[in-house]
Parts: sequence; C-alpha cells; structure tokens
Amino acid sequence: MRIVFFGPPGSGKGTYASRISKALKIPHVSTGDIFREEIAKKSALGKVVKAYLDKGKLVPDNIVIEVMKKRLRKHDCKNGCILDGFPRTIAQLKMLDEVAKPDLVINLNVPRNIIITRLSTRRTCKNCGEIYNLLFIKPKKEGICDKCGGKLYQRSDEKPNVIKKRLRVYEKQSKPLINYYRKKGIVKDVVCKKLETPPDTIVKKILRIIDKSL
Ligand code: AMP
Repeated sequence: MRIVFFGPPGSGKGTYASRISKALKIPHVSTGDIFREEIAKKSALGKVVKAYLDKGKLVPDNIVIEVMKKRLRKHDCKNGCILDGFPRTIAQLKMLDEVAKPDLVINLNVPRNIIITRLSTRRTCKNCGEIYNLLFIKPKKEGICDKCGGKLYQRSDEKPNVIKKRLRVYEKQSKPLINYYRKKGIVKDVVCKKLETPPDTIVKKILRIIDKSL
C-alpha cells in the first residue's frame, strides 16, 4: 500500500509516518529527511538544496522528481511505502501518478497556532533523527537523545520567520493538491486540535483508518 501523509509543516507528518512505517513494515520515505541527509554529507545535491531548505522555499521540481524517481524504484518500495512531504506541487503529483499511484492520502488538519508552537519547540537528534518536543515529548536528559545519546538541535528552518514562510508556501503551492486527491476519493482527514494530544493517540487513529481502507 502506498500512503501519502499530507499536511502543513509541523502537522506531525514525520512523527506519525515514522511510527506507522514501523507498524506496517513498509519504508518511510521523507523528501525532507533525504535532503537533510545530503546536506549533512555535504554532497553535490546537499550543496544545491541547502539554500532552499534554509529559506523555507521548495526545492525545484526537477531536482525533487529525479531524487524521488530513483528512490521509488528501489527494491524496498515494491510492497508500498509511506510518503512524507511528497508530493508538494502539481508537477510532483503528476510524476507520482505515473510512477506509483497512491492508494490513500492521510490529510493532517492542525490549526496554525499549534503548528507554530510545535515547530518552534521541536528538537531533532543530530545523530539518529529522532524528534522531540520541549513541551510534551521531552528527552530524559536536556539536549540529549534518549535513543542514541546524540545531541539535539533546532533545525534552521524551525526558527519563527522561516516557519511562517514555510506555512505560506504550503498554503499556496501544496494545499491545492488535496482537492485533486479528494476527487479521486482517496483522502481521509485526521484532525488534531489540541497541542498536547499524544502522538500515539493520532497514530492509533491513523492505523484504524488504514485498516479499514485495506
Ligand atoms: P519537511 O521536512 O518535509 O518539512 O521538508 C523540509 C524542507 O525540504 C522543505 O521546507 C523544502 O525546502 C524541502 N522539501 C522537502 N520535500 C520537498 C518537496 N516534495 N518539494 C520541494 N521541496 C521539498
């Protein structure tokens, strides 16, 4: 099954997608994670995409499409995958329809004030990528990852002015995609109105939706 996790930055896509990928034993494919890994490796691709991520702008379609065509062709995606942060534009959506049509789109609906609080208090492990939140998913030891002991940091695009830019980009370029998927009848909405709702509550909700759609 191919599932797209759709929603604004800070809606929890990455957190839920990673847990559901473990539960369903299919890969979690996040374009944001792919780009951040390339930036950390200082690869040629990483050098090109860094400026876009730092400013909260979308990476150009030709780059994203090439990266994703390659990723979706890999063996581990043959039984499905969870797509997080892709597609984000009409051109990407068209490419996905040609290569690997999605079966289900989970549309995360989270109010703007929650998103801004959530993103500005989010911390990520430099080593393993585990996500924490200083308000409700706190690490046991300040600044240190519970899982691997790595250092926690604030992503450069999780500073308030970049967050606002990313939200504007989402409203303009990505949100319209949901109408296309709605017409196909494959969208399921998941509403999260409270900041403190534990991730596991939402994960269970999503797993029930997936179960019913199988
Ligand atoms: P994310 O972790 O999904 O919020 O992505 C972080 C950043 O990576 C975004 O703000 C964009 O700069 C870039 N990015 C991730 N996915 C895409 C995509 N599908 N298309 C264009 N840019 C992307």
